[in-house]
Amino acid sequence: MNRENAVEVIDVSKNFGSYQALSSVNFEIRENEFFTMLGPSGCGKTTLLRMIAGFETPDTGRLLLHGRDIVDIPPHKRRVNTVFQSYALFPHMTLAQNVAFGLENMGWDKARITARVGEMLERVHMSAFANRKPAQLSGGQRQRIALARALAPNPEVLLLDEPLSALDLKLRQAMRDELRTLQRDTGITFVFVTHDQEEALDMSDRIAVLGSGEVQQIGTPLQIYEEPSNRFVADFVGETNFFEVDVLKATEKTATVRTPFGQVISVPSPTQVPVGKATLSIRPEKLNLGDQVEGVDFLAEVVKKQYLGGYTHYLLSAGGVEIRASRRNASRESDTIAVGSPVHVGFIEGSARVLAA
Ligand code: ATP
Repeated sequence: MNRENAVEVIDVSKNFGSYQALSSVNFEIRENEFFTMLGPSGCGKTTLLRMIAGFETPDTGRLLLHGRDIVDIPPHKRRVNTVFQSYALFPHMTLAQNVAFGLENMGWDKARITARVGEMLERVHMSAFANRKPAQLSGGQRQRIALARALAPNPEVLLLDEPLSALDLKLRQAMRDELRTLQRDTGITFVFVTHDQEEALDMSDRIAVLGSGEVQQIGTPLQIYEEPSNRFVADFVGETNFFEVDVLKATEKTATVRTPFGQVISVPSPTQVPVGKATLSIRPEKLNLGDQVEGVDFLAEVVKKQYLGGYTHYLLSAGGVEIRASRRNASRESDTIAVGSPVHVGFIEGSARVLAA
């Protein structure tokens, strides 16, 4: 599908004093997509979000909203709204008044405002609470009102700055579904900022992984998890093992390497790695354990295990190298591997990645 871009970030850099917060950042956010900026604290994601909102200006580069340069357009003239972690509701107003606030400022007439407020409260399942004040609500309910208020004027883009992080775990999970549904139903482009990889994988159409003020990778959740383009992404999103390997030969897409366990294998790689040392990345759940295993096979010793109900995590050791594996417990009898005993470890070459060291 060839959709218009809702947002284009072109070569954007930003320094705070001598500190470079963003360095030549480039990406596009497509219309109607749920786009997430994911990264550790300090990677620059909030700065980018604030730039799209208009609260921050890039030192160099351009920002386009539906093809139009917005760098010189003040925040209130951009059709962009933000939902904050702290809700930022007006405490002295009822919920209906909170949702109506932006519409009044935009000069909507009374009847249209009443209809829109009713519609928005219904969308976030808060119609019964219209006349309450924010103090009478739970955190999740406040966040729903903040969403209704931000969506009411029908913005072109909704920015969400870690909106779930103040909520408890159960509610956070429920709100993920609600946010996703709200995005699909309204068709508004959502730009979501989080440091929580699970939130990002669960909700997003596409994710931009940010690290050290740069875009490390952009892709669908599946691409980010299964095909990390570098060590930073493999490490930040999900668990992984990193093994040092010797590269014997390499092309743009594959590297033939000697593993620390003695085998010579051919493994996909996102970029051509030079002959010499590189890193083999393999997720714990891609390692098969047992008496007979599929694929590349080596022997390890079970050092420790951690039973977690649905899964068991294992710490293994082979030739002085630590290996993390995890297995789903499909039945009560699944968890049969004993600490201190030898076990075969196997993996399919295609499930690993060779990354530049
Ligand atoms: P967090 O999740 O902790 O909010 P973040 O990825 O959103 O992190 P930003 O808030 O974008 O990161 O900040 C990026 C870097 O720029 C940080 O090192 C931060 O300290 C710095 N920074 C941000 N705003 C300012 C400012 N106004 N003055 C000085 N430094 C700033």
